Amino acid sequence: MKQWEQTDPLVLVEGMGATLKDDQGREYIDGNSSIWTNIHGHRHPVITAAIQEQLARVAHVSFLGTTNEPAIQLAVRLLDLLPGSGLSRVFYSDDGSTAVEVALKMSLQYWQLVGEPHRRRFVSFENAYHGDTCGAASLGGLGAFFSRFAPLQFDPVRISHPDDLECLEAPGEVAGIVIEPMVQGAAGIRLWPEGTLARLKAWCLRSGAHLIFDEVLTGFGRTGRMFACQHEGVYPDFLCLAKGLTGGYLPLAATLTTQRVYEAFLGEFAELKTFFYGHSYCGNALACAAALGSLDVFQQERTMEQLPSLINVLKECLIELGTLPGVSAVRQCGLISGIDLCQSDGSSLDWRDQTGWRVCFAARNHGLLTRNILDTVVLMPPLCITPEQIRQAARALEMAIREVIG
Ligand SMILES: *Cc1c(COP(=O)(O)O)cnc(C)c1O
Repeated sequence: MKQWEQTDPLVLVEGMGATLKDDQGREYIDGNSSIWTNIHGHRHPVITAAIQEQLARVAHVSFLGTTNEPAIQLAVRLLDLLPGSGLSRVFYSDDGSTAVEVALKMSLQYWQLVGEPHRRRFVSFENAYHGDTCGAASLGGLGAFFSRFAPLQFDPVRISHPDDLECLEAPGEVAGIVIEPMVQGAAGIRLWPEGTLARLKAWCLRSGAHLIFDEVLTGFGRTGRMFACQHEGVYPDFLCLAKGLTGGYLPLAATLTTQRVYEAFLGEFAELKTFFYGHSYCGNALACAAALGSLDVFQQERTMEQLPSLINVLKECLIELGTLPGVSAVRQCGLISGIDLCQSDGSSLDWRDQTGWRVCFAARNHGLLTRNILDTVVLMPPLCITPEQIRQAARALEMAIREVIG
């Protein structure tokens, strides 16, 4: 906040496609998709109309014992995107953190309901990020987000590599293993080696544990496939979706699961198999309408078919950025990328100097808005970005890097 108070606040007042405008009339490319949420651009007429049409009927109704049309349709459309996945049930909540909380609690209760209450441990990865609520943060492997709150949290078994599963103590006590498929976002865009998901799946099939994919970031085309798990064709027992679900317009999350999990919760009232978990805004009609609008845009604009060429343009730009003094490495997964900074002589930076932050701050003057994770600059534009806008963003970043690092 101190740093914020010392700089003029950036007040964003308008958006159009992949760009945003501030209250001074300056325009920026939205280089981090408004914190990894936006998919088809700002003020998309189809999504705007979908929200307005729903607003003219009803904004929100309880999802506890009643339902609404957009929520029903959205569940069907989400499952249609995952043929052959074995996922057949949808549980709505509010955001990425709650999508993960739902998966954790549902998994734990499932094991109790099927007579395996000893399965109560979760396995997660070093450097993982699964959200900021206590349960989701417990799984996290980034100290800044969880160490301080350790007294409030549970201890997962933290591993750094799928190999570590082979020497896990008491594998029969594992309820589930949680991973961000393909790429760990908040860790600084770290990519998993090919075959990681298949190895986890094999282990889960052997040990019986649930496989939980956190696709809060990677869902909805960001990696070049609709869902990251489709790169390897490996499907989980729980799939957590949020951020891009509504195209980045309204908060909404969904935790998808299997018929098998669903059926474990079926019973007479007095058996108390109920999943006692629900947020006030579960299945919010406006948010579900926005999500349906976003899925319509995927079809109408053939978004997924446009991606390979955009991903290539980004790749070329990253190769060039990678040759700059001040850049030590670049990484890319679809339209998700990370640019690691270093000193101009190649030596490493002191994180306290906030070089990454200063580079992003300088990039604003060249018409690019994006965010760093320590000394990694993240470039993750909306899928609607044009090739020319990608090049423009890369040029802005290049100028900022030259100014700040030299
Ligand atoms: C952002 C994110 C979350 C948390 O989502 P919120 O909507 O911010 O609660 C969880 N997992 C991953 C992989 C994320 O990137």
